[in-house]
Amino acid sequence: MTTPARPEGIPLVPLVDIGVNLTAPQFENDRDAVLMRARAAGIIRQLVTGTDVPHSVTALKLAHRHQGELFATAGIHPHAAAAVESGWREQIARLAEDGAVRAVGETGLDFNRDYSPRPDQEAVFVAQLELAAECGLPVFLHERDSGGRFFDLLEPLAGDLAGGVLHCFTGSERDLDRALEAGLHIGVTGWICDERRGGQLQALAKRIPAERLMIETDAPWLLPRTLRPRPKSRRNEPCWLPWVLAMLSRCRDEDPAELAATTTGNACRLFRLPQP
Ligand SMILES: [Zn+2]
Repeated sequence: MTTPARPEGIPLVPLVDIGVNLTAPQFENDRDAVLMRARAAGIIRQLVTGTDVPHSVTALKLAHRHQGELFATAGIHPHAAAAVESGWREQIARLAEDGAVRAVGETGLDFNRDYSPRPDQEAVFVAQLELAAECGLPVFLHERDSGGRFFDLLEPLAGDLAGGVLHCFTGSERDLDRALEAGLHIGVTGWICDERRGGQLQALAKRIPAERLMIETDAPWLLPRTLRPRPKSRRNEPCWLPWVLAMLSRCRDEDPAELAATTTGNACRLFRLPQP
């Protein structure tokens, strides 16, 4: 195995990738090699994203197979909201009883792609917020271009939640304020490494309080565009998380090792993961 390339000046420090779509078909053939490369890059824990009932079941199976290293979320992504079968809520609730499930989600609103009709997205989102509150788990949240609707639905329930993270944050300053006000953590992906569309996030990065910050790859999506040498495949992997850390520490003008300790600590606290 070749050791994954590291960004210059980034020490080998323990990191938590809070958003990995390890159940995606892109990882079907070499998942074990992906995990080995992640370990070599210092990724000590990963939260495997559940995006519908079958993927949440698979995420949990992976967490059982790699106890202490992989943990799972269970939920319905807004893209999948229209396709849910009756009984989905009970199925997610049952999965959430398993100790390896550390959050309800991925849930939220995506009015950018609109793969599910908006009323369906909203109903399934609110039902999962209520479920998370009932079972005392944090929420793993997704928001794209909902024009404030996401926060309008979230805010009345925020006080009942055991916290949460707004993953892959790409919103405005106003969105950031509302997320922080609702007590949410902020997940930063390789979006921040994108010189074409990451400018707003780069500028806002400094405004996120340290105790609310987390980092993630959202693999296989969002390959950091700063990655050198450029891999042959466009597929992102958890082993590229240090590149997100590198850009975030540059935008915040913060020591990368300190920032790593902060984000790792935050993730371990919110999702009750074993500390490094
Ligand atoms: Zn997402």
